[in-house]
Amino acid sequence: MSLKRGIPGVVIAGATAVLLASTAMATAAPATAAESSMQQLGAKAMPFGSVVRFQQEFSGVPVFGGQLVQTLNSVGKVVATHGKTTKKTAGQFPASDAGATATAIADVVKRSGLPATTLTAEAAKPFWFDATLGGARGDSVAVPTYQVTVHGKNLDDKWTEVVKAGTQEVLASWSEVHEAVNRDVCDANHTVVDDNSNTAVRCGTAFDVTRAEGGAESSVTDVNNVYNFFGEASDFYSKFVGTDLTGLIGADYGDGTGKALRGTVRICTANECPFANAFWDGEQMAFGEGVTTDDITGHELTHGVTQHTSGLQGGQADSINEGLSDVFGKFIGITSNDPNDTGTNRWLLGAGSSLGAIRNMKDPRSSLKAQPDMVNGPGWDTNNPDVHINDGVVNKTDYLITDGDTFNGQTVKGIGLDKAVQVWWGVENTLTPSATFKDVGEALNSSCTTLAQAGTGGITADDCTQVAGAVTATQLEQDPK
Ligand SMILES: [Zn+2]
Repeated sequence: MSLKRGIPGVVIAGATAVLLASTAMATAAPATAAESSMQQLGAKAMPFGSVVRFQQEFSGVPVFGGQLVQTLNSVGKVVATHGKTTKKTAGQFPASDAGATATAIADVVKRSGLPATTLTAEAAKPFWFDATLGGARGDSVAVPTYQVTVHGKNLDDKWTEVVKAGTQEVLASWSEVHEAVNRDVCDANHTVVDDNSNTAVRCGTAFDVTRAEGGAESSVTDVNNVYNFFGEASDFYSKFVGTDLTGLIGADYGDGTGKALRGTVRICTANECPFANAFWDGEQMAFGEGVTTDDITGHELTHGVTQHTSGLQGGQADSINEGLSDVFGKFIGITSNDPNDTGTNRWLLGAGSSLGAIRNMKDPRSSLKAQPDMVNGPGWDTNNPDVHINDGVVNKTDYLITDGDTFNGQTVKGIGLDKAVQVWWGVENTLTPSATFKDVGEALNSSCTTLAQAGTGGITADDCTQVAGAVTATQLEQDPK
């Protein structure tokens, strides 16, 4: 693919114009006469600079999934390029898209069982389609297709069909409805699991599914709790930040239940029974008996979200990772009106569990294991041996932003939960894997400013003054000692 039209200059709001070096993305020359180009879809300012997304086109028709995303630092230098493009095209678009709609509807009838008379189709849209961009094996080559979105009578009946142009062949299809949660919960019933095996707790393979999506209540309270809390966390991520939790962090173990949020309850280890903790193992959750609460479940699931967004890992980032899990776990509990997360429990984590209230986000100094409430303040753990200590600073910052208070010389007016969720979601998506506490402070301010400029959720410049006050109060601007 040669870049005959080149890459346009990129203008970042509030920053200088950046001309990207076309050599950064030049690959092989096209094997067909169709001319490939990269069109800029958007540039997004980030705390570290910006990200710019490009769409590959051949003769003005986009390649489905053919995108490159460049990460630029603050002086406009490209520091990374991600994404894939197709190498060549084969075939041509016919003079008209006649027949594509009928083929799409026939395929939906076949797959859904709904009568054709209840289905309607949107206009066919031309796309080049290269299956290898989505992970299929074989040679990279794009063929001409039409995408047709088909609707049924219910809101959740919506599919997109990829029809090869001029044929009745459907190359791919998918549901456009993503909010459907899929849950699998297993009961280990005190089985001792091998701590060193990453498959020992698997719900669906190591243990049979006790309660699958839509299944009847179990006689085991922990099973039902986790099933319900998975639902509440899914509702939260869908409603507040438009994210399909099952799609983002679900696991498919090939047990026939598909990609699902999975959890195994009542596990034991050789040294501990009942196991007094809960964890996210990178693919699913595991709980000891009685530690299932809404905020703990939300905390663990958010570890999965972080893994798939900012990817925080190691050093200070490990504590920040814990802090973000506390923040979103608590938001999930509060918005679910869970009694363990409302009233006097509003800022306590773990209330109602067999562990008791382990952390106090409003007053981290009075957590079960005392935590600092500001960077370099009393209790600040320089060596960071326990990732659950310094995260008290993140928690205190969340409390101040959401509810407001006077602390460390700053009086902060709370911006309320709805706005706070948006600000923290911006942080979750803009932090980089090795972020520091100082980066969290910068990301909070940057996220709020970006939201205020866009007018998202009614967030205003005054709200960002409050966020900045909270950042100052918890000394996130300081380099940690
Ligand atoms: Zn954690």
